[in-house]
Amino acid sequence: MTADKPIFDPAQWQLSEQQARLGAMARELGQSRFAERAAHYDRHATFPTENFRDLHDAGLLGICIPEEQGGHGADLKTYMLTAAEIGRYCGATALTFNMHVSSCLWTGPLADDLELPADVRESLEAGRSRHYRRIIEQGAIYAQPFSEGGAAAAGKVAFGTTATRTEGGWLINGKKIFASLSGHANYYGALCTELKDKDDTPSRRNTMYVAVPADAQGVRIEGEWDPLGMRGTVSRTLIFDNVFVDSEALLMPRGVYFSAAKQWPHMFMTLTPSYMGIAQAAYDFTVAYLRGEMPGTPPVKRRMYPTKQLAVAQMRIMLEQTKSLWFQSINEAKCSPDRESLIRAWSAQYTVMENANEIAQLAIRTCGGQAMLRSLHLERLYRDSRCGALMLPWTAELCMDMIGKAALYEDGESDE
Ligand SMILES: Cc1cc2nc3c(=O)[nH]c(=O)nc-3n(C[C@H](O)[C@H](O)[C@H](O)COP(=O)(O)OP(=O)(O)OC[C@H]3O[C@@H](n4cnc5c(N)ncnc54)[C@H](O)[C@@H]3O)c2cc1C
Repeated sequence: MTADKPIFDPAQWQLSEQQARLGAMARELGQSRFAERAAHYDRHATFPTENFRDLHDAGLLGICIPEEQGGHGADLKTYMLTAAEIGRYCGATALTFNMHVSSCLWTGPLADDLELPADVRESLEAGRSRHYRRIIEQGAIYAQPFSEGGAAAAGKVAFGTTATRTEGGWLINGKKIFASLSGHANYYGALCTELKDKDDTPSRRNTMYVAVPADAQGVRIEGEWDPLGMRGTVSRTLIFDNVFVDSEALLMPRGVYFSAAKQWPHMFMTLTPSYMGIAQAAYDFTVAYLRGEMPGTPPVKRRMYPTKQLAVAQMRIMLEQTKSLWFQSINEAKCSPDRESLIRAWSAQYTVMENANEIAQLAIRTCGGQAMLRSLHLERLYRDSRCGALMLPWTAELCMDMIGKAALYEDGESDE
């Protein structure tokens, strides 16, 4: 099998040695193992357990865990580039990998950038070491259930899932929808609102980020999972019914998640690499198909027709635009970005999520009827790609809202 070329060539995009190395590792795993398993997970809407085992064996479950604690010590950009390579071969694996890695990014590289009092920093470090050990030593998998079906996941109101103080810890109550990895994660990294007692008024400032053990009493998974795309994510409904957690369950000390989410908005771009990978895969499929080189199809060339050449040119331009904007945005990502950088991040998010689907639909139109048969993977790319624009808090619509407002209003301006 000829090895696929990187999405971002290390020399041309001036990647670090670590970025090139981790990208190559992910690509190799993706091409040699994930690609052939993807159809099964998609068809049966089952979780990519074997892929997660491979990711653990390769040390990639700890990609963002510091090197001195057994991980690769990758920063946000390095993680994004690596995850995009996985997305080329199995979108659902890349998306669930993202949910897992987010637990390390929030608590690690992002939290390291925050100004925190010494005692809070100390408790952050003690807490995260515990979680990191579980990931490195036991291959523990973390999910990231934030969504509740209301405005909380968009960052507009406090989470309806609550953590009420009780002796020795908290009682967690609530419901999370679209909880990817449900039934397969070892811990659910849930966002909830801390309440001193049942009469306390919920506030976003009191958001807690808690690792609820999957086997804790009161954790339940409900509903079926039979969606259009990203079927291997197994994003069912999670119920917390009076689940007791002690202080060891805190992924971040109280109050830290609220600051991190405010100061590190680029973190929400971590949902994009899966779709960056899908965009590349849909383009690669089209080129191979038109050249008569797609495995499993007769070696019929279609590249000589001018309409095909034009269509591929259109797809390539769109792919280059998407890659460039995305790369610039992850390159400049930092704590407390200015307005211009933030507008670019929303634009990049919008562009990846919408263009991945546009490129996939052009691929189907261009390759034609045989290419949309389920025996090939293009139709899966098309279905998976449609899911990106729906992901909160930065859905395509919300990105447009935010870009428009930020472009027209300076901070604090109104028309009153
Ligand atoms: C494959 C997949 C996997 C997922 N995995 C996870 C996961 O692991 N964890 C998790 O927490 N969530 C996950 N989600 C959920 C996702 O992030 C969204 O929460 C979910 O798609 C929202 O669906 P909804 O119908 O409740 O959207 P709604 O909140 O009803 O929004 C519908 C649309 O209205 C718009 N909208 C929403 N709020 C506003 C607003 N305040 N102002 C203006 N417009 C608004 C948005 O454009 C949105 O697309 C996943 C979703 C998918 C598709």
